[in-house]
Amino acid sequence: GISPLNVLAIDVRADADALVLPLTPGLPDEWFAHDGQITKREVRALTLGALAPRRGETLWDIGAGSGSVGIEWMLMDPSLSAIAIEHEPERIDRIAENAAMLGVPGLTIKRGRAPDALEKLASPDAIFIGGGGTDDGVVDAAIEALKPGGRLVANAVTLEMEALLALLHQQMGGSLTRIQIARAEALGTMSGWKPAMPITQWVWVK
Ligand code: SAH
Repeated sequence: GISPLNVLAIDVRADADALVLPLTPGLPDEWFAHDGQITKREVRALTLGALAPRRGETLWDIGAGSGSVGIEWMLMDPSLSAIAIEHEPERIDRIAENAAMLGVPGLTIKRGRAPDALEKLASPDAIFIGGGGTDDGVVDAAIEALKPGGRLVANAVTLEMEALLALLHQQMGGSLTRIQIARAEALGTMSGWKPAMPITQWVWVK
């Protein structure tokens, strides 16, 4: 198991094996316990950039999975808070484990299914929809709850979610981006590009 340290680099520089948390998002995927449903590090870095945290803000991470987005949001500044919304019990346990391991035990976990689970939560300055976006009422509830000036970032991996985001982009503006990442991997004695599934990202400011 890994145990990244949330300390100043200077304290652990002497220990070559120590994992030191960087200030920038896009931590290695292996630093999170996950079951494969995780926003990959390159996409996660772009997602945090689009969520654009400002001091003191609150994030809703809807369909939090491993919790990676909410955790990286909180790691960017101690003034930031995040609520991870997830309904799958094993993933809920992993979110708590990951938050504790990476030094943000203050991450709030809301068990349940969006949109119902979104009722009565502290109102958000930014919302990430990483899952559940095609469920009835989720996007509407997110748009409604977001504070003026707040950012909504939704990532689609399925055609159904992508179709929804294309429609939202047409109706409400914002920006629609396609993110395609490939990582070099061994291919026999040489190496080749292993593509990840393409992601469509909609970013909208209220
Ligand atoms: N961004 C996450 C990965 C999200 S995978 C990460 O980096 O780890 C999508 C997640 O959305 C899954 O865990 C799934 O259980 C959850 N989900 C799907 N529909 C949901 C809903 N309506 N409410 C809450 N969670 C939902």
